[in-house]
Amino acid sequence: MARLTPEIEPLLDAETIAGRVREMGRQISEDFGAKNLTALVVLKGSFVFAAELVRAIDLPLTVEFIGLRSYGSRTSTSGVVEITLDVKYPLNNCDVLVIEDIVDTGLTMDYLIKNLKTRLPSSIRVATLLHKPARSKVEVPIDYLGFTIPDRFVVGYGLDYEGYGRNLPYIGALVGDSKVD
Ligand code: 5GP
Repeated sequence: MARLTPEIEPLLDAETIAGRVREMGRQISEDFGAKNLTALVVLKGSFVFAAELVRAIDLPLTVEFIGLRSYGSRTSTSGVVEITLDVKYPLNNCDVLVIEDIVDTGLTMDYLIKNLKTRLPSSIRVATLLHKPARSKVEVPIDYLGFTIPDRFVVGYGLDYEGYGRNLPYIGALVGDSKVD
């Protein structure tokens, strides 16, 4: 049966995203110098962003994946976070760069940072493509930010709506869904 696709209003086109991600990569390359980095990709939403960002970082690095699921309604999180896939290797003495798609309430990132600290890395920095400051419930450190966006539910470039839309090359907002909560 055909699936109804929600109406999506474009917010950030592919070219704009690519340009900003290249700048973020340059900045990260400068800041980390010759250090060996571990890029920690938060699945699933950041897989597209991470693929583009790591190629813009001109440093030796390893890539690890962590899967997180935050429970909630279709378009908002409750703050209850579960690790669905854990990192295979110890992170002690690593310079970890967390690569996240979006910081919304901040609850997921807050949980992740607290969890990572118990693994005794040398440092933790956070790169997120998107940030919705209007929805913030907890302060989280963001070292590298792609774009600040309004309080809209967004899809595309890795971000989904009920599992779909991750393959859209741009980022758009669901029409009629600026609420959430
Ligand atoms: P938090 O509210 O804990 O900061 O965000 C939790 C997670 O909800 C994010 O990592 C992301 O996976 C998802 N999320 C938050 N806002 C959006 C959004 O606008 N679009 C999509 N597709 N996912 C979102």
